[in-house]
Amino acid sequence: MDKIITSAEKIQIEKDAKDIWKECLSFIKENVPFITYNTWFLPIKPSEFDGLTLKVFVPNNFFIEWIEEHYNTLINRTVTQVLGDGGKLLYVILEEKEQHDQEKTQAKTEQTKPVAAANPLPQKEFESGLIPRYTFDNFIKGEGNQLARAASFAVGENPGQTSFNPLFIYGGVGLGKTHLIHSIGNKILEKSPEKRVIYLSSDAFTVEFVEAIQANTVNDFSNFYKSMDALIIDDIQFLVGKEKTQDLFFHIFNTLHQSGKQIILSSDRPPKDLKGLSDRLVSRFLWGLQTDIQPPDLETRIAILTNKSKSYGINLSREILEYIALNITSNIRELEGCLVKLLANASLTSIDINFELVKKTVREVSTNKQVNVSIESITKAVCEYFEIEENKLREKNRRKEVVLARQIAMFLSKQLTKSSLKTIGLHFGGRDHSTVIHAQSSIEDAIKTDFKLKETIDSIKSKVELTAA
Ligand code: ADP
Ligand code: MG
Repeated sequence: MDKIITSAEKIQIEKDAKDIWKECLSFIKENVPFITYNTWFLPIKPSEFDGLTLKVFVPNNFFIEWIEEHYNTLINRTVTQVLGDGGKLLYVILEEKEQHDQEKTQAKTEQTKPVAAANPLPQKEFESGLIPRYTFDNFIKGEGNQLARAASFAVGENPGQTSFNPLFIYGGVGLGKTHLIHSIGNKILEKSPEKRVIYLSSDAFTVEFVEAIQANTVNDFSNFYKSMDALIIDDIQFLVGKEKTQDLFFHIFNTLHQSGKQIILSSDRPPKDLKGLSDRLVSRFLWGLQTDIQPPDLETRIAILTNKSKSYGINLSREILEYIALNITSNIRELEGCLVKLLANASLTSIDINFELVKKTVREVSTNKQVNVSIESITKAVCEYFEIEENKLREKNRRKEVVLARQIAMFLSKQLTKSSLKTIGLHFGGRDHSTVIHAQSSIEDAIKTDFKLKETIDSIKSKVELTAA
């Protein structure tokens, strides 16, 4: 039961919190530019301190996400510095607090019942790696993700019990794969908290494996993953070319699958296009369900923006939402990026979000994207895909495959960079601008009917964007 806190003690708790936060702030102030300090840290208010955890109020969810993404290291350093090892900072959203206070006053007028302390769950010896905010509740349904979402939901409800094992979700960057597979994990744990669920990227898996080899603990490593009820591995395409890791993963996969445990994988392309992955692994991936996520249509984009802006605690007009959704079309991460930038722009300049600011921000976001993608990175990705040398694209080589690769590279250069036709032509062996136009229109025509070619191009495109991100 809760210890009864006297009002004198309460004042002390609040005073402690204030002093401690003040100390944190002065440390932070020394380590960030003034404007950052003013924008992101000054609005945070201390709440309580229990000797280990400092609770602070933040204005909205957006703050938490921004701070965690940009200043996590600084926060950790500050907390260790001021509170010592084991110290923690806990964010509470101000709106929630107000709501909470309201509920409390309401509850006071009703009869007070003693509340039984929840049974503490047995502590698991590992972290699931799941991000709690990625749930089905805030995953917007749309035409492009319908099947993937439905299958994921079914797996979340009944892990290991459906024919979707493994569940293999693929699609371009920023379309919601990571969100969806976290949602599955969170759902499983919500229903059965005792289940052993783990999420990690295939890169993290590889790094851990290499460490296990060095430490001579490969058996432990392998047994640990074999002990899961659900194993969720993100971006499995990064296992390409890593044969030893693939071998081990193959054995873990088999053990889990045989004992009816759930395996969930994501990738930027379908299993058959995972060149450099062993055939036996690819054939395992085909056992369950493979489903893709397509870019969201306009309505879905608007719905996502509406939802996201609400969760940040702001209300944007339909006109503004539509403007953003119409101008940012490729993926959801970019939509969100635009929203975050908009809020940052608004908070930095302390002006309200108006149409001018929206237009400016959309412009900034679009130019940023083009700065990152270069003709060189496109050429590299195309050549890697077709397994040809880059200089073949600059030579007068007329082999069918080379011609196609060259045309795709020109097409993507026009689409993803701001370069002129002339510049693009120059990059490909000093070809004329009319050659670039010809390449562009040939590819545009071809992908209207050639679905496989479209998939190839999409997959190269997402690779380019992923490396530029
Ligand atoms: P991917 O793993 O496919 O690259 P993510 O899952 O990281 O993409 O998604 C990028 C961002 O877009 C995340 O912040 C995610 O929450 C958001 N997002 C993607 N799809 C949806 C959706 N359908 N509804 C709401 N948010 C989404
Ligand atoms: Mg992802």
